[in-house]
Amino acid sequence: MAAIHLARRVRVERWLCGLALLVVVAPVGMWLFNGSRHLSPPATAGTRAIHKVLFLSIDTLRADAVSALNPVAPPTPSLDSLASDSLVFTRAYSPAPWTLPSFVSMMTGVAPQVHGVKTPRQRIPESLMTLAERMRESGYITAAIGHNPWLRPEHGMSRGFEGYDICPRDEYGGSLGSRLLARLFPGRLKPTLTTPEITRFADDWLHEHAHDDFFLWLHYFKPHGPYEPPEAYRPRENPPAGMGYRFGGAPAIRMGSVVIPPPQRLWVRELYEGEVRFVDDNVGELTAEMKRLGIYDETLIVFASDHGEEFWEHGSFEHGHTLYEELIRVPFFIKLPGEGLKLRDDRRVSTGSIYATVLGLCGIKDDPRWLSYGPLTPRFRGGLLNDDPVLSASPLYYEDREAWIQGSTKCIHSRVTDRMQIFDLTRDPNEERDLSMTSPEKTRKAFDDLASLREADDALREHYRIRGEYPAAIDPEVLEQLRSLGYVH
Ligand SMILES: [Zn+2]
Repeated sequence: MAAIHLARRVRVERWLCGLALLVVVAPVGMWLFNGSRHLSPPATAGTRAIHKVLFLSIDTLRADAVSALNPVAPPTPSLDSLASDSLVFTRAYSPAPWTLPSFVSMMTGVAPQVHGVKTPRQRIPESLMTLAERMRESGYITAAIGHNPWLRPEHGMSRGFEGYDICPRDEYGGSLGSRLLARLFPGRLKPTLTTPEITRFADDWLHEHAHDDFFLWLHYFKPHGPYEPPEAYRPRENPPAGMGYRFGGAPAIRMGSVVIPPPQRLWVRELYEGEVRFVDDNVGELTAEMKRLGIYDETLIVFASDHGEEFWEHGSFEHGHTLYEELIRVPFFIKLPGEGLKLRDDRRVSTGSIYATVLGLCGIKDDPRWLSYGPLTPRFRGGLLNDDPVLSASPLYYEDREAWIQGSTKCIHSRVTDRMQIFDLTRDPNEERDLSMTSPEKTRKAFDDLASLREADDALREHYRIRGEYPAAIDPEVLEQLRSLGYVH
């Protein structure tokens, strides 16, 4: 796996590591040299409209946890400031309610039912080119920095990135030598990255590449659970009975073996909001560094989350288990270079459109016929977006389901039981009244729409020759670790 070029810091570390491998553990040291390859600058394209692209993602960030989208949310000044420079999609949806299929859709422009990466056991089919591959072949330096155990090279997530430093790094094993080196060189060999470390790595990378044309994907893992905000970001009150300043335990709650009473639920939400404020401050540091480097104005910044988080709106907690609004409504801003377009758009859109929109804005050709999520570029040219259904699908837990939203109507269909739920999001934003129980006409139409969506998915799978499953070569030990965390069944 290629690691990010972090030359200033790495130069010294490489020298020291070279010394260390002679005396400590040669195999781990050999990895270090392979991983820190120097990226040579691409041929410059003088006519390119956009030279720098930052895809900034924050895991598990509900749309209503950002004060730019919800005035009663605890303030998120850094994200709000980015929003004030951006086109803000106030009703954006993620393609899936958990990390892996959501990012695969953002990176390929096709829905989970097309790319098929619906469980940790699948990888992106080779016939689908990723956004990073398209950017790299167009001459941008490509790199990814961040943390999330789902974003593994085995799933194809590193395709197209010259440097891919999405942690955890678990390649070194747990030998005494590996542990010793990780302690000596935490920046390079630590298996995980904290939120401030991600910011520092990104700052270093941007400093190194301030004069290059680049596509950088930066992914913050927090506010993903367990929630344990640093002291400065904790709630001001004392914790209620039985609670502390750290909260995890999602699998037990999902299985029903632990029940959290309503007053404690508010505390859990406050811990989450503390994590949100912490990551918001880190975004502020990052954008301040970009301004210091003089690259903020000229960078196209696409900001989104991969899914939301439930706080018992439909009786459960965390994410990955339903397709209700709290799990698929996400923040989504696009800041153009220069003066850009500073507007709010209330149309329902999907973050799956990131693939086509970034390519379109960068002037890289792509055929929207072969995408589930079309480009949002017409909006930047003064036009309106069409009213295509917005697709979201493939929960991690329980049976496979799919949702689509058109206008204010939302349908959720189970691919196992064939159950159809229909909600009117204008009259019933909390999705409490299933109209399929009372309106056979609406139900008939929903099944007709489903048949059309299936046809469209099949046509895309046929076009990309996606047949059957594409297994990911995941180490059984890693699968076992994910299973023990409650992630894999
Ligand atoms: Zn996630």
